[in-house]
Order: sequence, then structure tokens, then C-alpha cells
Amino acid sequence: MVETKLYIDGSWVDGVDGESFSTVDPATGEEIAAVVRAGRVDADRAVAAARRAFDTGPWPTTPPRERAAVLRRIAAAIRADAEELARLESRDAGKLLTDATEDVAEAAEIFDYYAGLAVSEGGEIPPSGPDAVTLVVSEPVGVAALITPWNFPLLMAAQKVAPALAAGCTTILKPAEQAPLSSLELARIAAEAGLPPGVLNVLTGFGPEAGAPLVEDPRVDAVSFTGSEAVGRIIGRTAAETFKRVTLELGGKSPNVVFADADFDAAMEGSAFGVFFHQGQVCSAGSRVLVERSIYDEAVEALCARAAEIRLGHPADPEVSMGPLISAEHRAKVNSYLEHGRADGAHLAYMGRLPTDPDLAGGFYFPPVIFTDVDNTMKIAREEIFGPVMAVIPFTDEEEAVALANDTTYGLAAAVWTSDVKRAVRVSRAIRAGVVWVNDSQPAPVEAPWGGFKASGIGRELGRHGLRAYQETKQIYLNLD
Ligand code: NAP
Repeated sequence: MVETKLYIDGSWVDGVDGESFSTVDPATGEEIAAVVRAGRVDADRAVAAARRAFDTGPWPTTPPRERAAVLRRIAAAIRADAEELARLESRDAGKLLTDATEDVAEAAEIFDYYAGLAVSEGGEIPPSGPDAVTLVVSEPVGVAALITPWNFPLLMAAQKVAPALAAGCTTILKPAEQAPLSSLELARIAAEAGLPPGVLNVLTGFGPEAGAPLVEDPRVDAVSFTGSEAVGRIIGRTAAETFKRVTLELGGKSPNVVFADADFDAAMEGSAFGVFFHQGQVCSAGSRVLVERSIYDEAVEALCARAAEIRLGHPADPEVSMGPLISAEHRAKVNSYLEHGRADGAHLAYMGRLPTDPDLAGGFYFPPVIFTDVDNTMKIAREEIFGPVMAVIPFTDEEEAVALANDTTYGLAAAVWTSDVKRAVRVSRAIRAGVVWVNDSQPAPVEAPWGGFKASGIGRELGRHGLRAYQETKQIYLNLD
């Protein structure tokens, strides 16, 4: 059985208040485990442990080569436990087992990648003339609070923990209350891999009780948050009070632009995947499908046909292509957009069917939905639904496509489907988003920066940029005169 206590200073401990909460299997609605509900005093203990581990070491001053070795051992242990971890993640977060298996493999890859950067990212020696040497060195930023969402629990934890550890930081990880179990497993794995006590602490609990104190605490130097725009705004404001470094990975309403000259089948396949993947609970979901008018009717027909192929059911069933939403509350929120779509005058072109298996009656299933004739001013085209709801919007020419793509407060990702290379580059450059895919949807290579423009966030994860979020830059000037 997986650990359900808090992991603080190298030990599994109960919460001071003795409170717990249930983490539930979204596929059935049944409780998986009761997990400690951390409060302010627990957060204080975790911060104290991380601060001590940073200030008195050894981790920040451990030679990068040795830090890298620990990261590699964590990667190897994740791979060794991959099947178990994937099953746990699938159950806790309602992810298809196949998707969870990919997440686990990617999490291991992230630890290996940052192990490489730990030993390869050096400083600079800018030219200073004969009488001086200037060294520009990177140092760990300090104690980092890492706050993650429920949609990719292990992957999001890896995206933050691996670069933070590679940089020499000490950390407190606060996973989402809905899916905390894989983060606790990560703590176990990291400890077994030789990470010293206090370097990775895990606090389970609710945001305002376990997360907010981390953001307020002056002993914390950096906050890396992935989650909603609303909470991101609170975190940005609070962190400013103590001048913390802040990385915010927030939501999106990403455009998926299909030009008439695109490979039609590939574009339809990718557009459907872009919004229905993981039930649409993806920050970069291509939830606005912009289609050139000359192929609009044909595209609507093809998208509905693809949605009709989706089979809802238990996420561990290999025949199933769509699992449940994360919770009953979230399902109610997604469901409310059906009414908004209808009220605003969009056409409900397709709605799938719920699973009929009585064993799944307690699960939080929601069918794939396609709205057509959507106007970009409608609520379903402006707000992040975070569910399997596609809004299809027609456009007349490239100029209108770019204007519609950019007519959003968000700027996380975009997909462009075209066979014209010049257009692909033109449109990619014109779209105000941190990630643009051409003739693809949703790849997120570990080597490339990930993050958004506008209300989609501040800063970048993954790649070299992901490491910089956990590094301070220092100039050392040596007078040789
Ligand atoms: P959320 O409600 O904002 O929660 C995210 C995390 O913040 C959770 O751990 C949450 O704890 C915690 N939290 C809540 N209130 C807090 C507070 N006042 N202070 C400190 N922490 C607090 O987001 P979510 O529903 O878990 O995730 C969905 C959102 O994440 C979507 O908007 C999605 O677009 C975004 N996302 C973005 C990316 C990206 O890369 N840009 C990736 C994945 C997801 P509780 O769970 O206890 O509330």
C-alpha cells in the first residue's frame, strides 16, 4: 500500500491536527485512501526542514555530478516501478492506463534529462580585459515551493522537482488534493535513491491550508505553480509580498487552426485528439477548432464521425478511449457549458453516450461534445472548460484565422494545420502563444521550453529554461591589478 502520511525531513509523519481527506477513484467514485490533510503548522515544519536542508546542506553544495547520480537513480527507480506507478496514477487521477504509462515514462525521462543539465550547464566568463576576470555563476535559488494540479500529477511533479533538485534547491511539493498519491510515491523513490532528508518534502492537503502558507512564508525563495488562472493570480500577488521568484503555468483556450490545404485526415485526427485527449482536462487542449470555410461542412462531419468512435469506460480497459472526469464538481462545471453553448446560439452537433456498465455508475463520466457555428465571443469559446467540449469556428482567410486565434486572454498553445510551409511559419510567428505545433497537436518534448503568453502564465518549464527557474545568477569580479 502506498504511503498516505506527510513526508517531512526524511520521515513519514502524521499531520499535527490529525485530519485526513479521501482521495477517490474517478472511475467508480470509491475511496482509494485517506490521506493526511496538512495545515499551517505542518507547512511550517516542511518549510523549516527545507530551509535547514538548504542552509546547512549538503544538497546545495553537493558536486553536480553527485546530484546528477541521484537524479539518474530516481529515473531508474521510476522505470523499475513503472507498472505500479501507472496503475496508481490511472486510479487516482482517472487517466487511461495507457496515458498514465506514458506519463510515468516521461517523468523518468525528465529526471534523466535534468541529471544531464546538472553537469553540463556552466557559467560564463565575459571578457574583462587584462586586469580583471569576471565569472558569471549559477547558484540554487534556495527553497522552492512546488504546487501542482491533478491532471498530470506525476508528470507535473517531475517537471518541477527534477530541475529544482538539479539546480541544488530544496523543495516542498504540494500536490492537488484530488490526486496526491503518485507524489507521495515520488518522495519514497527519491529517498531510496539517496536524496538527503529535507530536500524533497511532500505536503498533501487543500490549497488554502497547505499551499497558501508556503507562498506566504518568507523562508521560501521561489514558487512554481501549475494550475488555474484564478489561483495563479492569488499566488502571484502573495508571492510578490516577499519578492519570491515565481513560475506560473496556467490555463488556456488554445486555437487549432485548420487550413483547406492541410492533409485533411491528419488534421481531423489531430484536432479531435487535441481536445478529447485526457477528456479535455489538458491545459493546452485545442478546444477552439478554427476551420477554413471551404472545408467547414466536410470537417464538421469528419470531426463528429471521429468523436463517435470514442468509447467511454473504465480507464484500465484497453478498449476504452475516454475515461472519467476528475470529480463530480468538475463534471457539474463542464456540464454547465452545455447550457451556455445552447443559450449563446451554438449548434450542438454531437454528444456521445455515457457508459452503461452499472459498476461505473458512481464514476464521473462525461461524453465528448461538439458545438459548431460557434462565434468566438461566446462563453464556450472564451472560457477554459477543461472537459471534452470542442467549439468549431469557421474562418474565411489567413488574416481572420490569426485574428481569431489571438482573440483570447490566454496564450498557451496553438496548432496549425497546413501543407504550405511559408504559411506555417507566418501563422506560427503571428500567433501569440508559448507553444505552436505545425501539423501536430500536444507533443511536449522535455528538451523544449513549455509555458504561456498572457493569462497562460509567467516563465517556462522543461528544457534549459526549466532549470533557470531554480537558479540565481551571480557575478564575481576578480581584480587582478
Ligand atoms: P487549481 O485549482 O488552481 O489547483 C492547482 C494547485 O493549487 C492544487 O494543488 C491546489 O490545491 C493548489 N491551490 C489551490 N488554492 C491555493 C492557494 N490559495 N494557495 C496555494 N495553492 C493553492 O488547478 P487544478 O484544478 O488542480 O488544475 C487545473 C488547471 O491547471 C487548469 O486551469 C489547467 O489549464 C492548469 N494546468 C496548466 C498547465 C500548464 O502547463 N500551463 C498544466 C496542467 C494544468 P487543491 O487541490 O487542494 O485545491
